[in-house]
Formats: sequence, structure tokens, C-alpha cells
Amino acid sequence: MRIAMIGTGYVGLVSGACFADFGHQVCCIDKDEAKIDGLNNGKMPIWEPGLEALVKSNAERGRLSFTKDLVEGVKGAEAVFIAVGTPARRGDGHADLTFVFQAVRELAKVITPGTVVVTKSTVPVGTGDEIEKILRAEGVTEVSVASNPEFLREGAAIADFKHPDRIVVGAEDQQAQEVLREIYRPLFLNRAPILITGRRTAELTKYAANAFLAVKISFINEIADLCEAVDADVQDVARGIGLDNRIGPKFLHAGPGYGGSCFPKDTLALLQTATAAGIDQRIVRTTVEVNDDRKAAMADRVVRALGGNVGGKRVGVLGLAFKPNTDDMRDAPSIPLITKLLEQGAEVSAFDPVAREQAEKVFNGITFAPDAYAAANEADALVIVTEWDEFRALDLDKLAGVMRGKVLVDLRNVYGRDEAEEAGLTYFGVGRGAA
Ligand code: NAD
Repeated sequence: MRIAMIGTGYVGLVSGACFADFGHQVCCIDKDEAKIDGLNNGKMPIWEPGLEALVKSNAERGRLSFTKDLVEGVKGAEAVFIAVGTPARRGDGHADLTFVFQAVRELAKVITPGTVVVTKSTVPVGTGDEIEKILRAEGVTEVSVASNPEFLREGAAIADFKHPDRIVVGAEDQQAQEVLREIYRPLFLNRAPILITGRRTAELTKYAANAFLAVKISFINEIADLCEAVDADVQDVARGIGLDNRIGPKFLHAGPGYGGSCFPKDTLALLQTATAAGIDQRIVRTTVEVNDDRKAAMADRVVRALGGNVGGKRVGVLGLAFKPNTDDMRDAPSIPLITKLLEQGAEVSAFDPVAREQAEKVFNGITFAPDAYAAANEADALVIVTEWDEFRALDLDKLAGVMRGKVLVDLRNVYGRDEAEEAGLTYFGVGRGAA
């Protein structure tokens, strides 16, 4: 199949490279010239495990190409995927569809009959209908519009794309279904379930999935607060409930609240869809509130651990990206944490294994350390914000040795209280016994 991918970000680039790896002919398009020039010179715009090798091998085989020119990119394509960003609109949290509609208008000028347009971006219910209207208004006929939401996780994006739990396709006509089945055939030969449904249902499925995962995270975070109040251990509670098949162990890790490029904006967008439909979604609304409050409260934990005042104190921060194995800083919990600490007069020295370049665009007035021990050097407190693997086996004696104070605030429950205390550190975890 010949595929065009409009938008070469986390989703577009990974999807494009994986489709090419299945043997399809893929052209990835982006209006960001620097990104395309970089890709044409073998430079990845994002950090994602395994991506560089996958992109290079498929580009070398002539199956994957990159262009800024939409006309050139969609020429001869049987399917055109739209994978542009759909950020939260400032002010109301509605999904901002400017990039999607702009791409569709550009596409309308060059698309040929028989092509299937597929939204891979996360878009609110009814966006497929809007795209159809735009195409029709531009005089385009005999083009199908389908929805194929993406469920990959950054940090494990290639494995997720190649071994998905399911593929969701929302298509209103036979031709779109057949084209998408053919594109994904290599996957369902490996028995990945493909769910073919209506377009609006597919659009909503993506939001429902992300909202449910956000609910799970906020739920265990609230249980963690209760654990601190009643002297129970949230790690054991999570295991105790997660072993129940009806609940499952994933997304039950208490921590600093969810961030990233999806959950925060997608929960807000779902609420907007619900409001427009006159339906109150109380669970999701409360989840958003719980998470916002939680992220804002993380700095207070550090302040409390340091005796109520961080003015003039030095805080080492381990991990800046919103989760491990990515350099994505969008809505990362490290942002409100560090911002508040700086406001209260703390000095911050931070280390992240890959997100430094992105983080430099976000933070002013912090020091970037070259490794975890350098971040801890002369620190009054050390805070683990992102649970990178390389933070899981730190030499705690060495850390305690280089620190000025001895406070370890472990927002990801990476260490046990006993081992931290053995190294002479005062340990503050999340939801692990009386605070
Ligand atoms: P991103 O910001 O990394 O990439 C979007 C790209 O689209 C950018 O490179 C931008 O320059 C490009 N673009 C915008 N308008 C364009 C146009 N008219 N023509 C060509 N290129 C254009 O975004 P992302 O993280 O890849 O997310 C894309 C979509 O996928 C969003 O709707 C998101 O919600 C969804 N999604 C993201 C993830 C994730 O983990 N990042 C997972 C599942 C779904």
C-alpha cells in the first residue's frame, strides 16, 4: 500500500516507520522544515527507543521518505493519515482542531478520488463528519473518511505499534474498511484484534480509554493519601487489588499525578464533548481536579520534608520527562514542582538521562547536572520525579555522602524506607505509612 502521513511527530513518525517496516511505501510529511531536513539527514526529532534504527533501515530500503511538500507526499497514496497535534485549546480545554482542519484543507487541493483519509490524531466525536464537510465544500468527492485512533505509549511506542492490544477502526463504508484491513493485515495475521466500528464510536473509544486510565491513576493517588493518614502501605494495597483480574495491576502506581501530551488534554476534551452533549461526566471531571491538585501539591511535600522552608536550600531533582524512556516534557509533573520550589527561593539542580534539551526550553534558572550524583551534590534534599531505570539502583551511600542534607523525597516509590535509612537518609515516599 502507498501511505502518506501528515504530521511527523511522536505518533506520525513512529506509525510511518512501522508501516514502512510492514512493507508499505510511506511518505511522512511535516510543515516543520527543520524536522524534515533533520530526518532527511538521519537526525531524529524525538528520543524514542529503537526509532532511529527503524527509520534508518526503512529509509535505506526506499520504503520511508520525508517531505515538507504535501503535494509530493500524498501523490499516489491510497490512504492519507492525519497525525498532527490536537492540543488543548487555551481557555476552555476543547481539543484544538486547527492543525487537523488546516491539513484537510491543504489535502483537499490535491487528493484524488478513491483515497481514504484516516484520522490517527486524537479527535473529538464528530470530527470525521467535519472533515467530510470540508472536503465536500472544497469539491472533493469519492473520498472516504475513517478514524483509526492510536494507543501507543511513548517510551514503548514501537513495541506498542507492532504488538497492539487492539486496532480500532471507525469506518462508515466498505472501501475504507478494506483499505485499513489491508494496511494492518501484517498485524492481525499475528492475531492483534481489529475492532471495526462506526466512526463516531472509534473517536469516542480513544477518549474513553485515556480517561479510564487517568481515573485509575487518580484513584490510587487518593488511596495513597489515605494510606498516609491511616498508616497503611499503598504499594501493598495496589498489589492486593491489582492481582484481582477484574482490576489488573497496571496504572496503579501512586505518584506525583499524571502528565504527558495525552491524559491532561484528552480528559479536558472529553469533558468539553460531554458538556456540548448536555451530559455530565462527574467521574472524569473529578479526576481532572484530583490530578491538578496533586501536581500542585508535590512541591509542598518537599517543603514539608525540609522543615517548612526551602528558601536558600538546594534541591536535587532526578528525572524531568513526564515518564521514563521519553524526552517529552509536555505537562510533566516536574514543571509545577520545580516552578514552585524556585518561587519559594530554592536552588534546583536537575538531571534527566535524555530530556535535557527539551527541559532547557521549559525551565529558567535551574542547573542541569550531568548525572544523578552531580544533581545530589551539596543538596539539602533529593527528589525522584521520574522513575528512569538508571535511578533504580543508585548507590544510596554515595548519594548520602555527597549531599549536604539527608532528605530523600521519592515521588515514585523506587526505594524502600529501610534501605534509604540504612544509608543515613530520611525517607519520604508516597502513600507508605504515616507521613
Ligand atoms: P506532535 O506535536 O509530536 O506532532 C505533530 C506534528 O504535526 C508536528 O511535527 C507538526 O509540525 C505537524 N503538523 C501540524 N500541522 C501540520 C500540517 N498542516 N501539515 C503537516 N504537518 C503538520 O504530536 P503527537 O504527540 O505525535 O500527537 C499527534 C496526535 O496523536 C495527537 O492528536 C495526540 O493526541 C495523538 N496521540 C499521541 C500519542 C503520544 O503518545 N504522543 C499517543 C496516542 C495518540
